Amino acid sequence: MATTAISAAEGGSATAQPDALGAAVVARAATVRIRGRTIWEGVNLAVPRGNFTAILGPNGVGKSTLLKAVLGLQPLAGGELRVLGQPPGGSNRRVGYLPQRRSFDAALRIRGRDIVRLGLDGAQWGVPLPGFGRFRTGHEREAQRRVAELIELVGGTAYADRPIGQLSGGEQQRLLIAQALARRPELLLLDEPLESLDITNQAAIAALIQRICRDQGVTVLMVAHDVNPIVGYLDQVVYIARGRLVTGTVQQVITTETLSALYATRVEVLHASDGRLVVVGEPAGPFDAGGHGAHATR
Ligand code: ADP
Ligand code: MG
Repeated sequence: MATTAISAAEGGSATAQPDALGAAVVARAATVRIRGRTIWEGVNLAVPRGNFTAILGPNGVGKSTLLKAVLGLQPLAGGELRVLGQPPGGSNRRVGYLPQRRSFDAALRIRGRDIVRLGLDGAQWGVPLPGFGRFRTGHEREAQRRVAELIELVGGTAYADRPIGQLSGGEQQRLLIAQALARRPELLLLDEPLESLDITNQAAIAALIQRICRDQGVTVLMVAHDVNPIVGYLDQVVYIARGRLVTGTVQQVITTETLSALYATRVEVLHASDGRLVVVGEPAGPFDAGGHGAHATR
């Protein structure tokens, strides 16, 4: 666990560190509004380089929006965000991104290996990366070597030549993570890569991501639905609810005190006999303090 000034205080007050001190992502009083509705506001956050951070919270609270803001795809209504020392979007060549809800039609013939290759050619799903042409012909062997290395890294060698649509959810996710890593990003943004995986696979993918984080020094921000399968791999969590955000270790954030304060209602964190954390009384649904009529939830 990196030592940081991050506390479980609301908004992580006074926690945003200058980039020079090693934070990959720094937010200062950051606010996002979509069509007049406040998604979150006054967000202070520092994600130290090399950390594995999970973003948690109910549906519709703005977890995906936070990743989009980091990518510069969602402008801020106020405050500031610095990503790898640049304004959002300015360093996207050094950022890998796996958007939410990727599934492949079972009939899709494209091989897993080619999906990984798309990341190398700059055709990352969801984010246009201008200036990335295809590898020149002379570099074809180099490109193939890199793709093989990425597939090996995620343990996908045995199935990378099968059609992606015929692979299991866990196998698809591994290859998509390899795709996002193709250009050796310093920051990896993963939006619910564990969605629809069973608990064993969720833990296995979290272990893989932690290893990438440690071995390659990549900073990882991962949106997750359930903290339990991944709790042992995380350095810190960001928990979003009611338009606010708390950061800290799991032990600091997933507590009765912190979550009750965040939700402004009594929420209880129970420790099950098998070690799982169970949050009881967690209100569902997005924050609506903006109150300008937009009620779109996913
Ligand atoms: P999460 O990832 O936490 O489930 P999102 O970040 O996707 O939530 O969305 C946060 C809120 O912003 C939701 O209420 C969602 O409906 C709304 N939202 C996101 N994108 C748009 C958009 N393009 N237009 C209108 N509302 C949006
Ligand atoms: Mg989302």
